[in-house]
Amino acid sequence: MRFIYLDHAATTPTHPEVVEAMIPYIREKFGNPSSIYSIAKEIREAVETSRKQVADALGANPEEIIFTSGGTEADNHAIEGVLYGSPQGKDHIITTSIEHHAVLEVCHYMEKRGFKVTYLRVDGEGLVDPEEVRKSITPRTALVSVMHANNEIGTIQPIEEISKITREAGVYLHVDAVQTVGALDVDVNNLGVDLLSVSAHKLYGPKGIGCLYVRKGTKLDSFIHGGAQERKRRAGTENVPGIIGFGKAMELARLERKERAEHLLPLRDKLITGILERVPDSFLNGHPTLRLPNNVNVRFKYIEGESICLNLDFLGIAASTGSACSSESLEPSHVLLSIGVSPEEAHGSVRFTLGRDNSEEDIDYVLENLPVVVEKLRAMSPLYPGR
Ligand SMILES: *Cc1c(COP(=O)(O)O)cnc(C)c1O
Repeated sequence: MRFIYLDHAATTPTHPEVVEAMIPYIREKFGNPSSIYSIAKEIREAVETSRKQVADALGANPEEIIFTSGGTEADNHAIEGVLYGSPQGKDHIITTSIEHHAVLEVCHYMEKRGFKVTYLRVDGEGLVDPEEVRKSITPRTALVSVMHANNEIGTIQPIEEISKITREAGVYLHVDAVQTVGALDVDVNNLGVDLLSVSAHKLYGPKGIGCLYVRKGTKLDSFIHGGAQERKRRAGTENVPGIIGFGKAMELARLERKERAEHLLPLRDKLITGILERVPDSFLNGHPTLRLPNNVNVRFKYIEGESICLNLDFLGIAASTGSACSSESLEPSHVLLSIGVSPEEAHGSVRFTLGRDNSEEDIDYVLENLPVVVEKLRAMSPLYPGR
């Protein structure tokens, strides 16, 4: 049977060159990079080469990269690190209602500890209004945290405009760029960010590794306490194979990004247009153009996204109803509710996220089969007026 993977926002297949680069560091190159003998020095050098590859892909300096266990830890570190490292009286953070749980849950946790959080609303296409950021900043504000692009609906935020505002106000800006590194040109200086989160497994690297970019001079508390690794900001023996794979994935992302986007954009648009044309009562969630080049998120009235995904799975198509993290709960997506979709229609949404291995034949296969699945489910749905 065919297998068509269309859930690249949840995780990506590891690039063969990344696997090759990692193998020696799993097999024979086992030394601890902090040891002093020569076989360890070689490992230290490899770790630092990776740090440079990561920095180069972001337009950053290697000293500004802290390796983390992934996007979640980077988001936690940025928010807790800035708030705990801020002077007395700076106890306010501004974020948005559509952030990933790795940001939202930290904000809820910090609220319980007495910090104040403003959750900005977004418009019907998922965009944050930079003027709302400006109006929400007070003398107590320490940090603004806005994601670069949303993992469910793919909407890309005006980070450059927001960073002009945060810089004028002397407030730090953190950006969760987990969905955009490798997909868009993410340059920390062009964007004007102070902190930025990256995760390797979303860009054809291994799981359990990522980084937090921290602009030189940013006041940030350490997050994991122990040894002196990562300049004492993140203790613990380095995940060497992960770091090597992450470095390789970032180098490949830098070299192949344009090519990947040119491959994905026409496929994305063919899938969007094809679905909307062939399936009645289907609507695109998110912004039509300010959108990740691989994201398609569509709501189908009268039926459940969950049932659509199960039926697609029988046909060898892997898609999801939203973020991997929310698919275990029965709550409708907080992102879809934030853009004004009703709870029923939020449940009827399906996300297809494309990747470098997808072909036009994959899209054709989905376009042949999806309308049949939707029609079949609607025929059984008590909500469907066409019955
Ligand atoms: C996947 C994801 C994360 C979490 O990254 P992990 O490396 O899986 O911890 C954070 N933010 C966004 C936007 C994501 O898509």
